[in-house]
Amino acid sequence: MFALDEEQRMILDTVRKIADREIAPRAAELDETGEFPWYAVETFADNGLLNALLPVRYGGVETSLLLFSMTIETIARFCASSALLLIAQADGTLPLLHGGSEALNERYLNRLSGDSRMLTAIAATEPSAGSDVLSMRTKAVRTGTGYAINGQKCFITNGSVADFFVLYAYTDREKQAHGISAFVVEKGTPGLVYGKNENKMGMRGSINSELFFEDMEVPEANLIGPEGAGFANLMKTLSMSRLFCASQAVGIAQGALDEAVKYAGERIQFGKPIAALSPIQFMIADMAAGVESSRLLTYKAASLFDRGDYRHAGTMAALAKFTASDTAMKVTTDAVQILGGYGYMKDYPVERMMRDAKLTQIYTGTNQIMRMVAGRVILNSP
Ligand SMILES: Cc1cc2nc3c(=O)[nH]c(=O)nc-3n(C[C@H](O)[C@H](O)[C@H](O)COP(=O)(O)OP(=O)(O)OC[C@H]3O[C@@H](n4cnc5c(N)ncnc54)[C@H](O)[C@@H]3O)c2cc1C
Repeated sequence: MFALDEEQRMILDTVRKIADREIAPRAAELDETGEFPWYAVETFADNGLLNALLPVRYGGVETSLLLFSMTIETIARFCASSALLLIAQADGTLPLLHGGSEALNERYLNRLSGDSRMLTAIAATEPSAGSDVLSMRTKAVRTGTGYAINGQKCFITNGSVADFFVLYAYTDREKQAHGISAFVVEKGTPGLVYGKNENKMGMRGSINSELFFEDMEVPEANLIGPEGAGFANLMKTLSMSRLFCASQAVGIAQGALDEAVKYAGERIQFGKPIAALSPIQFMIADMAAGVESSRLLTYKAASLFDRGDYRHAGTMAALAKFTASDTAMKVTTDAVQILGGYGYMKDYPVERMMRDAKLTQIYTGTNQIMRMVAGRVILNSP
């Protein structure tokens, strides 16, 4: 139903090998140390995966969203943090693809081509503005040569390691949604100050940073699209990012299901494997149904994006995001249950998967917001 061509199948096969050989063996250590996975950056970059969506005209491979979705899922099956690296990188690229001028895109996107190790990020969230993006306080004021930006962002994935990132700020607060603009900001820009990197429950191999802007000067040439186009740009980017989050959640859930099936076949209680017990079989069947249905919804959203049907794709991505992440939370929790006391211990990966799954219900738009977004479209309500 969601077929890949021969070349795409070969790429996915390479992704599977990388996940198996390079990513899976270091996932537990990455979670334990909470260090940034530079080895994953190198592996992904060397294999053309770090910027898989980058168009051919900027030196990229321009992967379809279906293949990218499957790539994220394949990596997340073993290490959700490493999958988040690919997602953050796409999130920092899409605002340029959606709204950047040719000159701006050539200046920044060309730097991501080939085996580039450059990292990107997207910075929208603030302490006072999470779900309610319009309550952001960061402000960009015109100067003679560009903009002086003041404010702060929080929770930014890749924030302190990004070579450049996309920043959203008000250029005209009165205009609300039509008063937000998007800018490209380079590491090292005077006035860009890094705050703390967060200490998180899960996805511990990913960096989430506070960013402060103190009279930070950004040249006019770094404005993405016209002034006031930032909110629409962000919404378009987030609707795709929800697809990526759904793919990550499907991968986490599949990884937990794999572990539960393996353990159930090996664990002997009352003289037989627990896999022979009906309650365990019922749980496994429910887990498999959840994973498969989430995967189908996610692939459908990806295919709609690939066909250019953005309106339906956005709604489908919202449905996929909350379905897949709620499934990931339930499946990982059930996997811990099937492993019993051992599931609660760090010797097995399911407790990490359970902690990682939680984020997928929160970031890139909480599941409450996702239900609102999808419900409004389905009901044709404002
Ligand atoms: C690990 C991590 C990585 C992140 N990465 C990035 C990043 O790279 N870039 C970036 O810009 N942001 C990033 N974020 C921010 C993330 O997108 C926000 O945390 C998320 O959108 C929710 O915002 P909030 O945390 O302020 O929660 P709030 O908006 O304060 O929500 C709190 C609770 O209220 C509920 N709620 C809020 N409004 C409504 C409503 N209208 N109806 C019903 N319920 C509602 C929410 O669902 C939630 O349960 C990241 C967050 C985390 C935790």
